[in-house]
Amino acid sequence: MEKQTLISLYATELPGHETDDNACNDIFHENTETEYRLAIRAAAEQVSGFLKNTKKPFSGIKPATLLEEFEDISLDNPLPDYKSLFDEVNALYIKHATAFHLPQYIAHLNCPVVIPALAAEVIISAINSSQDTYDQSAGGTFIERRLIDWTGQQIGYNEQCDGVFTGGGSQSNLMGLLLARDYYALTYLNHNIKLQGHPANANKFRIFVSEKAHFSNHKNASLMGLGEQSIVKIATDERFRMDAALLEQAIQLEIEQGNIPIAIVGTAGTTDFGNIDPLQEIGRIAERYNLWFHIDAAYGCGLLLSEKYRYLLNGIEQADSVTIDYHKSFFQPISSSAFLVKNKLHLNIIRHHADYLNPKEQDYDELPAQINKSITQSTRRFDALKLWFTLRLMGKQKLGQYTDRIIDTTEQAACLIESSNHFDLLSHSDLGVLVFRYVPQLVPAIDVCAMNLYIKQTMFFNGEVLVASTRVNGQFYLKFTILNPLTTIKHIQNILTIIKKHGKDYEQRRHTPAHSGTN
Ligand SMILES: *Cc1c(COP(=O)(O)O)cnc(C)c1O
Repeated sequence: MEKQTLISLYATELPGHETDDNACNDIFHENTETEYRLAIRAAAEQVSGFLKNTKKPFSGIKPATLLEEFEDISLDNPLPDYKSLFDEVNALYIKHATAFHLPQYIAHLNCPVVIPALAAEVIISAINSSQDTYDQSAGGTFIERRLIDWTGQQIGYNEQCDGVFTGGGSQSNLMGLLLARDYYALTYLNHNIKLQGHPANANKFRIFVSEKAHFSNHKNASLMGLGEQSIVKIATDERFRMDAALLEQAIQLEIEQGNIPIAIVGTAGTTDFGNIDPLQEIGRIAERYNLWFHIDAAYGCGLLLSEKYRYLLNGIEQADSVTIDYHKSFFQPISSSAFLVKNKLHLNIIRHHADYLNPKEQDYDELPAQINKSITQSTRRFDALKLWFTLRLMGKQKLGQYTDRIIDTTEQAACLIESSNHFDLLSHSDLGVLVFRYVPQLVPAIDVCAMNLYIKQTMFFNGEVLVASTRVNGQFYLKFTILNPLTTIKHIQNILTIIKKHGKDYEQRRHTPAHSGTN
């Protein structure tokens, strides 16, 4: 019976679909349960196909070839049935989608996702609650609040903490800097930026970040009208962590020059090296100079789950605000992130009352409204449910063990790379990132940057292994980001063997006069 209906779904003969114009069978409503179930099941089949058929992290398709697939498509002419739609989407997208779940994907901060969170996604999108007010998401409001409180507890905050789910770490970092700026002006200049705009001396405001801090801090400073000139970059130590002594010198220098330090951003897990700034020392400096202390733990937040490595985040509890990306390190599907503050009163700085949504006279203990805590979104997905499913079904401990496994594999990989004379490793990692490059074996004078770029690109267009890259002191390096607990040292060994092979090929071609110049 069901199988038959599935076939009819594929063959456009969905009951009532064409016959009754008033049925509105594509709208999700009380009489479209069958249509809904079949469509979701058929979509899940596509995902199964993706898991079954994808053996490489990438198909290797070139942009020009992929673009050709789009040429004959007219968005003004709908397809006859789901079958045609899935065929089309397979060709355009699924076939070439990057497979983050494969150990050969070792490039960016994209984690494999946990299945409970995927089940939650089905509920989130269909019921489609919006997290702004109680009348749009009653239970959702409290689920989000409990998860924020729980995250605050993991950080080491007391019950004064608060926060909100956001669309991502960049957005959370924006909230951190915005609160820092507005808090400074209110407290020390008696100036309300929310109402009055910048004070005359706002161009003297200074924000201290490490050289390796995430670029969103720079973008956010621009967005806030302070300009990138407000960002003071502090040099890092041998493991690419902020040098606390240099931070203090830089703050003093800015003060001497008549500028106004307002905030420090510490990074707990840099995107490039996965290392953690000295949070405790930075916290003490922030206290000494009365500066807002924001910690960007978009990546490093996974350590909150770990018993073994939680100590690496010691000092995080001193922060005035923290960025958490569950979609980086809690195995959650995109998007799932949060912004937390130590003192909930600070969120009042950004509160705005709209008469139709969250009027001033409303009692927010009686009718809570998460929109009071959000600056960048009104309508907001109920992403919190994914984390709820994950914690309630898997538990923190299991997630923590995954995190430990990732860190242990990374350390093994670091030792392997370090001990090989084929590679030059720049730093060990507190988390899962290794920056290294293949070093010439045959032709010492070879362009090492070009050779490593060649290795990366060759693997990308073969689709066999996807690694990232970065530049350090102008030099090109390969980068592993290990976020998959299923990745083993054996996988790493195989990947290194492939890298060596392409490196050797490149060298040999340069080495053999007959072939030189062909590349
Ligand atoms: C990824 C990342 C961000 C940005 O988070 P999005 O969720 O991508 O917006 C911020 N900071 C660090 C350290 C990151 O690694």
